[in-house]
Amino acid sequence: MNEHTSIGIGTKFIHAGAEPDPTTGAIMTPIYQTSTFVQDAPNEHKGYDYSRAGNPTRAALETAYAAIENGKFGLAFSSGVAATDAMIKLLAPGDEVIAANDMYGGTYRLFTKVFEKFGIKFIFVDTTDTKNIEAAITTKTKLIWIETPTNPLMNITDIAAVATIAKSAKALLCVDNTFASPYLQNPLDLGADVVMHSATKYLGGHSDVIQGCLMMNDEALRDQLFFIQKSTGAVPGPMDCFLVLRGIKTLHVRMQRHCENGRKVAEFLRNHPKVGKVWWCGFTDHPNYTIAKQQMRDFGGMMSFELKDTSDAATKRVLMSTKLFSLAESLGGVESLINHPATMTHASIPREERLKNGLSDALIRLSVGIEDADDLIADLNEAIG
Ligand SMILES: *Cc1c(COP(=O)(O)O)cnc(C)c1O
Repeated sequence: MNEHTSIGIGTKFIHAGAEPDPTTGAIMTPIYQTSTFVQDAPNEHKGYDYSRAGNPTRAALETAYAAIENGKFGLAFSSGVAATDAMIKLLAPGDEVIAANDMYGGTYRLFTKVFEKFGIKFIFVDTTDTKNIEAAITTKTKLIWIETPTNPLMNITDIAAVATIAKSAKALLCVDNTFASPYLQNPLDLGADVVMHSATKYLGGHSDVIQGCLMMNDEALRDQLFFIQKSTGAVPGPMDCFLVLRGIKTLHVRMQRHCENGRKVAEFLRNHPKVGKVWWCGFTDHPNYTIAKQQMRDFGGMMSFELKDTSDAATKRVLMSTKLFSLAESLGGVESLINHPATMTHASIPREERLKNGLSDALIRLSVGIEDADDLIADLNEAIG
């Protein structure tokens, strides 16, 4: 089953990459926990020679990855950051990357602390206004990197508009689609060249695996990225591939509930007298609501808020008082999480950079899980007091 674009999204998520095991008929792809494969004669084998280059469990997952983003090819990496790392390794010293000024802290750290010293230049702009991207384009621009919605401020960038800019600049567009998941948004359909996910989040969905992936349509690009995957070796093991394959089968059902609960929690927060601003892209007065509605099927379960009392003490009290929302990094699992970006997920961004982009010390981020919404609201209500 390779042509998934015409079938329903749920059917696609369940059947993507799933072929019964040819030797036993096992309906789930077995965990091929092996490093090597016995050959019939020197360099004559059944398609696999060494698990860094390829493994049947990973191959099934990579087929699924391609299908869920309506792409032709998928590649699995040992983490989301490893997938991002592989994308930057397409570049050479002197090349320039235009990236969003509000994105996952680990991506910012990788760009500025690891790759800048190899001579790659990163220009950070507010990508919600695509004019800023156009203004930053030079003849050296090779890659545009966006995240939408952004982590943690839920800013939305117009993917189709940026794809047009990237094409005319002959640069690649890569979209970090982790926050939306393929259930809500498919950047390849909107003209992006590559989609990146931290599969650790919604794709795995159960907070039990670290993994990343890249999806694309262009075969030459796939071959380049496969070469980097094989040569630098940041590949996931077969057990982790199995866990993500299983996670993807329930993605649509989980996402429906994440969206439903997200809406209820966002509205509760907005109406709470002690809560200040709430960042959620499903509010009709969100500055980028029109584009969000155009490019997303629904709005998801990620949001951030500030209390009216923005003191550290008040913020910390809420962070430490919830019982169902666990204080932890990460997101996208079935259980709800609460997080303090300034000291946790985004601590690697210098404070003045953060403040300039609107990420205050009082910001609280929620990953709304799929528990009963009433219980989640009661928990927040109690903690906010
Ligand atoms: C978590 C995350 C990453 C990094 O992925 P890992 O699997 O933790 O390496 C990248 N982008 C976003 C938006 C994330 O939330």
